[in-house]
Amino acid sequence: PADVDYLKGLLRSYPDYPKKGIVFLDIFPLLRNPVAFETLITHFVHRLTSHTIASSPSKKIDVVVGLDARGFLIGPIIAMRLGAAFVPVRKRGKLPGETISAEYQKEYGLDVFEMQADAIAKGQNVVIIDDLIATGGSAKAAGELVAKLGGNTLEYLFIIELTFLQAASKLDAPMYSIVKVD
Ligand code: IMP
Repeated sequence: PADVDYLKGLLRSYPDYPKKGIVFLDIFPLLRNPVAFETLITHFVHRLTSHTIASSPSKKIDVVVGLDARGFLIGPIIAMRLGAAFVPVRKRGKLPGETISAEYQKEYGLDVFEMQADAIAKGQNVVIIDDLIATGGSAKAAGELVAKLGGNTLEYLFIIELTFLQAASKLDAPMYSIVKVD
């Protein structure tokens, strides 16, 4: 579709960032361009409000969960358009009060994600959003946090998916990505 091609064309890739051998895909050109930003948000909102999709058929989305840190740039806007709550998943030690945690594998060792224990009520419908899914380790940990609180994850959404890493098989709900990179 034209909007996907438009957004894909604005992404930039940086070879050998943050270190040699890694090609970093940068979403900030999309946010820098007001028309592209609007297109991006509209694409996600249409996806989540369309009744023709299998994953969230006419279910009210109660909570949009965004992942630290670029999920915080798109998640709240989508939440507001849906009339849903926004809940952040943060790296360890950043959230006050009672928290729950889940570990995930990073390139070197484990990292820990946290969510406030009262952020999601049992039975609420949730979607989980980030800029990019690579191995799926961070998305899986976020899904575990939602499940621990009794939330029902309807779908995982990303701007970019690195398809060759086959992250979808790790997740407990369907995954949707706008741009597929292999
Ligand atoms: P995963 O846990 O292996 O799926 O890695 C996904 C996380 O790493 C997300 O939070 C992404 O923002 C970040 N990430 C990995 N590679 C890239 C990239 O090329 N561009 C932007 N973010 C990336």
